[in-house]
Amino acid sequence: MTHTIADLLQPLAQAREVVVFTGAGLSADSGIPTFRDGATGLWANIDPEEVVSIEGFERDPDKVWAWHESMRSLVADVCPNAGHDEIAELESLLPNARVTVVTQNIDGLHQAAGSTRVLEIHGSALRVRCHDHCGFVEAWEAGQTPHRRCPSCGAPARPDVVWFGEALDEEVFSLAAQATLDADVFFTVGTSAIIQPAASLAMAAKEYGALLIEVNPHETPFSEHADYSARIGASEFFPSLREALENFLEKTDGRDGNDHGR
Ligand code: NAD
Repeated sequence: MTHTIADLLQPLAQAREVVVFTGAGLSADSGIPTFRDGATGLWANIDPEEVVSIEGFERDPDKVWAWHESMRSLVADVCPNAGHDEIAELESLLPNARVTVVTQNIDGLHQAAGSTRVLEIHGSALRVRCHDHCGFVEAWEAGQTPHRRCPSCGAPARPDVVWFGEALDEEVFSLAAQATLDADVFFTVGTSAIIQPAASLAMAAKEYGALLIEVNPHETPFSEHADYSARIGASEFFPSLREALENFLEKTDGRDGNDHGR
């Protein structure tokens, strides 16, 4: 068990692969309510099974589109918070590492903050695709009315979001799984880590020897497995980590903290 933020610095400085696995809690400080916050904002008076499920779409596509349009407008009105910003900064800060963001979020805020390797395992509210997977995908720009029918094959078009009961995109998930197996450090941020198979990534990282860091103001079923749990919000934790890491790298001359026999 690792006890202080200082214990994270050397493993980070030495890491070759860092994975940051994020959930809705990361975007809470940007003003996007989490699913589990319950009856507020986007989720007020809404049964998620009706608006983010295949059955809901087949039953009442207008209702599903209306909910996703609200999500799209909300996303257009918010900005990345300090958590997203500092996660993006890790790419330039960590001397030896590739940083992979694996996100369950559909809000595009990691890319807006500047992260360059983002795997959206639950898709994106900023895209539309063919429901029948004919290959049609288009960006859904803020304020634009997206296609309701696939212009290539005529099947229904739909938000490019993975709904309850649907399989994840195999290619995206396999990249996420590979990064997880390679990870030296694995952060799990703002997620209750209970939705499968996404949550299994965190356990796999642990089994394959990654240092596991949880960032969540509340305990989760996953907490007992974490090497370090930051019981604060992500927008508070990541700036503190950046400051500590910058000091550490400065003291160790921008290297990984080993004196390499000097
Ligand atoms: P979740 O299961 O990941 O739960 C949210 C977690 O965030 C909770 O454990 C909570 O304690 C924690 N949290 C709250 N505030 C936090 C903060 N400031 N910093 C760090 N952690 C914080 O996510 P969910 O809300 O149950 O969502 C389930 C799925 O719904 C997601 O996987 C996603 O596909 C979709 N969703 C996406 C968004 C988005 O894109 N922003 C928002 C809501 C839901």
